[in-house]
Amino acid sequence: MADIFTKCREFTRAKEIMAMGIYPYFTEISSAQETEVIIDGRNVLMLGSNSYLGLTCHPKVKAAAAAALDKYGTGCAGSRFLNGTLDIHRELEERLARFFRKEDALVFSTGFQTNLGTISALVAKNDTVLIDRLDHASIIDGTRMAFGKIKKFIHNDMEDLDRVLSLCNENGKLIVIDGVFSMEGDIARLPRINELAKKYGARIMVDDAHSIGVLGKTGRGTSEHFGLESEIDLIMITFSKTLASIGGCVAGDESVIHYLKHHSRPLIFSASLPPSAVATVMACLDIIEEEPERRERLWNITHKMQSEFTGMGFDIGKSETPIIPLFIGDMEKAFMMRKLLFDAGIFVNPVVPPAVPPEQALIRTSFMATHTDPQLDFALETFQKMGKKLGII
Ligand code: PMP
Repeated sequence: MADIFTKCREFTRAKEIMAMGIYPYFTEISSAQETEVIIDGRNVLMLGSNSYLGLTCHPKVKAAAAAALDKYGTGCAGSRFLNGTLDIHRELEERLARFFRKEDALVFSTGFQTNLGTISALVAKNDTVLIDRLDHASIIDGTRMAFGKIKKFIHNDMEDLDRVLSLCNENGKLIVIDGVFSMEGDIARLPRINELAKKYGARIMVDDAHSIGVLGKTGRGTSEHFGLESEIDLIMITFSKTLASIGGCVAGDESVIHYLKHHSRPLIFSASLPPSAVATVMACLDIIEEEPERRERLWNITHKMQSEFTGMGFDIGKSETPIIPLFIGDMEKAFMMRKLLFDAGIFVNPVVPPAVPPEQALIRTSFMATHTDPQLDFALETFQKMGKKLGII
């Protein structure tokens, strides 16, 4: 008789990487998520955070979180559907709906759940969901939970999207894409996606996890970046990156949000976002509006790092954002590069298959508005040294 745990005992890959001394995951950090963090008592430069505007320790954000903790306590002890909706959940939803120029919005407890709960509720038996091959795991899992058909198109390839749409029937269609692709740092071709959606009668949902506060003149994301806010049907975000918290939200037409409130299982059957997390998001939205210089600084850093890395001979692929991958290819070499950088005092995230296609392992660097020039210069010097050492450049 087969033992269901056999596969666990036979899973040796991670332990082999540990034995080689280059295992990079679950690293313990004993300080706040800022440009420098403390690991094993050492100060390490953080080039792997998604806190793009550097707001996790902003005094106004911390004060708002503390005030909410004081007033409402630590948790809601229930789902939004039943006992877990606070007045500030609703206030945040109304604020986010206004921010995204939509009729309404719905707050979930994580971004992952937002994608699961939105896609699985909307894509019914005879519908089709169309996704980019490099969409985030939460989108892919959302499609797996849905009862409709799943069709994938080649990453950012609009001819392929056209082809795939032409094969769909007359039933409902939803195109779901990352606004900014989380590993590659390139931007979805929203204008063409919008044209194709209109041609075939499909709806569009954009995952703006990495775009909120980053893209667009006022930080409203990918659709603002392209001037397409009134065309995009659903905007999804997470609170776990620029918004320095945890949670997620989807914004769209009132009827769609109302439907999700009554059909989305990850919303209905999971506890609601804690009050301090809600207040954090509201304070971060204030700062996105009040301190546009943060976004400006982030983009200056992005352009500087993109051109410096490219000048050194690194392959940054098609990055157009503060997510700048350095393509390495071989997985062990990516782990080695991460280890050399770490020993030299820099934290980066290695990304290996299956998160990226085979032989396309990369080092994902990501930048924060609060990185200083000396920190960036130190990073460039170190990357060049280690890149040469490993024969990457
Ligand atoms: N979408 C994208 C594109 C993401 O990068 C992430 C987080 N890695 C999520 C959704 C899920 O967000 P959360 O961390 O809030 O679960």
